[in-house]
Amino acid sequence: MTECPTSSSRRQFLNAASVLGAGMVIAPGVTLHGISEAKAGLPRVSSKVRWGLLVDANKCTAECTACVSACKIEHGLEGHGRVKTDAQWIRKVELRDRGSGRTQSLPVMCQHCDEPPCVDVCPTGASFKRADGIVLVDKHTCIGCRYCMMACPYKARSFVHEVTTGQKSHSPRGKGTVESCTFCVHRVDVGRQPACVEACHKDGKGAMTFGDLKDPNSDISKKLVAHGGVRIRGDLGLDPGVRYQGV
Ligand code: SF4
Ligand code: SF4
Repeated sequence: MTECPTSSSRRQFLNAASVLGAGMVIAPGVTLHGISEAKAGLPRVSSKVRWGLLVDANKCTAECTACVSACKIEHGLEGHGRVKTDAQWIRKVELRDRGSGRTQSLPVMCQHCDEPPCVDVCPTGASFKRADGIVLVDKHTCIGCRYCMMACPYKARSFVHEVTTGQKSHSPRGKGTVESCTFCVHRVDVGRQPACVEACHKDGKGAMTFGDLKDPNSDISKKLVAHGGVRIRGDLGLDPGVRYQGV
């Protein structure tokens, strides 16, 4: 029987990955970057770093959706042609103070919890946390059970119901799998800022700061020391990597 070139190359990839070890068969953000990192001499994912994101709610305005638009474009979430999608890895939510009536607009995405319940409940290990704190879903092993969606208190995950179109090679998606914000791991691993943060500074209000929470000299650490930061539902003890000021 003639072998399909696609299935052949896929098998070769899987064989190569199994030789490297079970830990290598993970999400594109890790498996592929792990290999390219070695070639490029880039630092490997390390627990010496913990990536975090700080949102200054005093700067964020309700009419600004630069971060939402940038995320959709970066990850091909817009849908193309007749295939429409409502996938949204980052959304704007409005908070209203019952006493004063004051409202605030905030972006909410996967909070990249240090104790992620989505990882705890995943029966296949598809949900996982990298050593640097980024929480991802391995599309190859996600069986679409959606336990993680039920476990996430931030409603940060969504299920891909539709056939995916307009896919980006750096952020593959798959019908029947769960997905969420990746902290733009494909950018972070090459020293770039997440797309939403970049757009917030270019087209938005400059409300977002991304960086290493473990580095006392990083901008995010300095801002947290100077003005503090709130974890949404900090009472749950999940220690999110996303923090907010001015709420
Ligand atoms: Fe998991 Fe939800 Fe926490 Fe993200 S916000 S790490 S999806 S529990
Ligand atoms: Fe989207 Fe990247 Fe921002 Fe996450 S970090 S919300 S994936 S643009």
